[in-house]
Amino acid sequence: MTAPQRRFDLVVIGGGSGGLAAAFRAASHGARVALCEPALLGGTCVNVGCVPKKAMWLAADLADRLRLAKPLGFDVPSPALDWPKFLAHRQRYIDGIHAAYRRKLDEHGITVVPARARLLDAHSVACDSGEVLQAEYVVIATGGRPRRPDVPGAELGGMSDDVFEWTAPPPRLAIVGGGYIAVEFAGVLQALGSQVELFVRGTRLLDGFDAELAARLADDYRQSGMRLHFGHRLAAVEPDDEGIRLRDETGATSDRFDALLFATGRTPNSDDLGLDAAGVARDERGRIVVDAFNATNVDGVFAVGDITTDPALTPVAIAAARRAMDRVFGDGARALDRELVPTVVFSKPPLARVGLDEAEARARHGDAVHVYRADFRPMLHALAESPRRSLFKLVCVGEERRVVGLHLLGEGADEILQGFAVAVKLGATLDDLHDTVAIHPTSAEEVVLMR
Ligand code: FAD
Ligand code: NDP
Repeated sequence: MTAPQRRFDLVVIGGGSGGLAAAFRAASHGARVALCEPALLGGTCVNVGCVPKKAMWLAADLADRLRLAKPLGFDVPSPALDWPKFLAHRQRYIDGIHAAYRRKLDEHGITVVPARARLLDAHSVACDSGEVLQAEYVVIATGGRPRRPDVPGAELGGMSDDVFEWTAPPPRLAIVGGGYIAVEFAGVLQALGSQVELFVRGTRLLDGFDAELAARLADDYRQSGMRLHFGHRLAAVEPDDEGIRLRDETGATSDRFDALLFATGRTPNSDDLGLDAAGVARDERGRIVVDAFNATNVDGVFAVGDITTDPALTPVAIAAARRAMDRVFGDGARALDRELVPTVVFSKPPLARVGLDEAEARARHGDAVHVYRADFRPMLHALAESPRRSLFKLVCVGEERRVVGLHLLGEGADEILQGFAVAVKLGATLDDLHDTVAIHPTSAEEVVLMR
């Protein structure tokens, strides 16, 4: 018996940030679209990523502010979060996003197929519900999943998806990793009441960020009471009567923890997708190789988001998907600028970057690089006599001091960067920043006052 078939202009595999954006944009150009998603709409970002994480970060931020309120003169008790109540608010917010997506999918006339899908060839997609979808174009947007290190006892540790199931902060928490997720959860959970220890195999936090700011963030973390272990090579995780211990390659054993979180990177969901059947090329890490317009090596097959070699960020997945669909179904032909992607680590305090950091700029432009810094105490911290300082850094190149990088560590960095990212994209120079009237008293003004 042949499988039932339906025909569309576009089939999208995966209903996360990239897949939804592709489906909406193609449909708005008049394409007949099917979207295959076996799990919750919104994918990683909405369900186990940006959104629930940011909710926790906001709660942690409030806790920190309440701690500052006391020395300022407010008569407030030490903050204690009612987790079940907070989790209910977080879920209500996420439910609202799901409902908005469902409405928008209906309005756009997109056929949602609640099934796992795989390519049979470049124009046929088999769903595990039994039907086959035919289309001239296919977008693959299946994202990735967290990865555990391959050491004995690794199954005793949780991963980022699990954190969103926690109903209380573990009293003593070990986190392995030094990237975005490790650093974000470490800051958030320390602020929400865990005693966090961070185990990093390298010599610094956040390899992809400016070294000076990453070192300052490590100091901030120590100041908050966190313990940081650099150069830690994990050999095994060992159960203990009352918890878990980590053993490193020298045989040394850590203190005891109530919980362990692995934040050791992610694996693309590219197995079992029929990529070989369709002839879609992958790199050595299993990510789909795409060109500037997110086309794969196979005609008619596109890929967007974390499944590709693009930066693994929601706005990148969305922007790439929209541009690809504008090109296929509309008259757009603008490729995504992958050089100037602004990004924020929601650490405590947040760390924001756009463009080149100092080391990258020096490697590319040598002595033509000029670096400017603002190292200051934000007003709230000065008032509350907290030692926390912010560090902002501007990386410029050449006689005209063109801004090629901006790096912000401190309160408000997450909100400040977006506008300045526009300026950097437009080719702003140091003079342009100096010509801009400051807004006083703010942290943001430090960017236009750096000399
Ligand atoms: P996903 O959102 O992962 O969606 C993929 C979808 O494909 C999933 O719904 C999955 O069920 C579906 N799927 C998989 N296989 C199949 C199949 N065979 N058939 C059909 N469907 C399938 N980015 C930011 O920009 N800012 C942040 O603050 C941020 N915080 C993050 C925090 C955490 C803890 C994590 C893990 C990630 C965070 N990210 C953040 C990254 C961001 O979540 C991802 O870059 C983004 O979700 C990628 O979107 P995507 O569409 O490529 O994949
Ligand atoms: P990252 O690649 O950022 O970090 C992974 C970390 O795990 C690195 O420090 C890496 O060390 C370490 N690591 C890898 N394998 C091992 C191992 N076997 N033992 C010990 N340490 C190990 O990945 P994340 O999982 O933190 O995040 C994935 C991506 O998701 C990010 O790159 C980012 O694009 C996105 N994201 C974005 C966020 C945002 O925008 N705010 C927030 C969260 C995620 P080493 O450097 O030595 O390899």
